[in-house]
Amino acid sequence: MDNYETVIGLEIHLQLLTESKIFCADSATFGGLPNSHISAISLAHPGTLPRLNEKAVAFAVKLGLALGCQIARHQSFDRKNYFYPDLPKGYQLTQNEHPICVGGNVTFKVKNENKTIRLHHIHLEEDAGKLIHDRQERYSLIDYNRAGVALLEIVTEPDFRDPEEVAAFMLHLRKLARWLEISDGNMEEGSLRCDCNVSVRKLGDEEYGERCEIKNLNSARFARKAAAAESQRQIAIVADGGKIARQTLSFDPVTNTTSPMRDKEGESDYRYFADPDLMPIFITDSYIENIKKNLPDLPDKLQIKFTSEFGLTAAEAAILTAEKETAHYFLNLCKQTTHFRLVANLLINKLLPMSEEAKITVSNCPISTENIAQLLQ
Ligand code: ADP
Ligand code: MG
Repeated sequence: MDNYETVIGLEIHLQLLTESKIFCADSATFGGLPNSHISAISLAHPGTLPRLNEKAVAFAVKLGLALGCQIARHQSFDRKNYFYPDLPKGYQLTQNEHPICVGGNVTFKVKNENKTIRLHHIHLEEDAGKLIHDRQERYSLIDYNRAGVALLEIVTEPDFRDPEEVAAFMLHLRKLARWLEISDGNMEEGSLRCDCNVSVRKLGDEEYGERCEIKNLNSARFARKAAAAESQRQIAIVADGGKIARQTLSFDPVTNTTSPMRDKEGESDYRYFADPDLMPIFITDSYIENIKKNLPDLPDKLQIKFTSEFGLTAAEAAILTAEKETAHYFLNLCKQTTHFRLVANLLINKLLPMSEEAKITVSNCPISTENIAQLLQ
């Protein structure tokens, strides 16, 4: 095993927190009675036309700027044609030719070390409906509430070398998405899920090995386990003189194994072409500048500020920058007292556990920050 290296690239789907769907006014809220957030447009009745939700564009630009991507001034939407019952139109609207964000990179901590992975691009697309197979014996049910919900697909370069990095990356991205208020990042509800491309190669080899893609992993832990199981499976085959066949896989967390789903469709099978119903999008420098101006301080920046200016340990700073609200609450208190370490202690050891127990957020604490600051002073 030690003679092999694992290579992983991710395709992450992030559901955006827009109120309505990406191409119509139907509610994009999670849940609800099945097929209650639908209309002729979600159901793709003939003659209906899509109209782009501008907020989805703004959210994508926000994330792109936070990750140092280039924002494309010209974008468009393409039809990705395929048949599946959860896809009423018979095609998915996505950005194949001109994605909204290109390049960029993400630096995050894995076991206290910094790891940087490069992004290939980020594009906008619509989600599909949901098939339910386990309610009825002879039939599958379809819920179209999710059909047309705005998604960002974040495609990384194959820069991961360890399943642990995959899990850390997903959690990092989740935190950032929540911080920017573009997604709730709720993995249980499928707001953040990933496809994990895995290959192996002999240590020192220049070329990548053939890869397999594990679909639809909806937690950081499953992604880590799936990537580890798949890497072991491939190493066993290669070490035995065998060849890896390109496959699409699903992961079973109970048996901790990956197994083939269906043959991967080739690029040409989708017959991508520019959607004739949607205008191309041109965004201006001032549009981007305006979003940039309103970006909040990012957690990494505050982490540094909290350790260098306020004298906190890295561990304390990490807790206080886990959520934007907590960080701002801390900053607010620090404006009113000079005892920064005391503020951190009180927050970490008392206020945060208490607010969790009472199920209220710290900023809704019934004691005013003035009173807390005075007490500490
Ligand atoms: P496709 O268009 O077939 O989906 P891409 O080249 O766009 O393929 O890559 C999709 C994903 O696969 C990316 O996240 C990329 O990082 C990853 N990837 C590409 N080659 C490899 C490889 N040899 N091993 C692991 N991941 C890979
Ligand atoms: Mg792909």
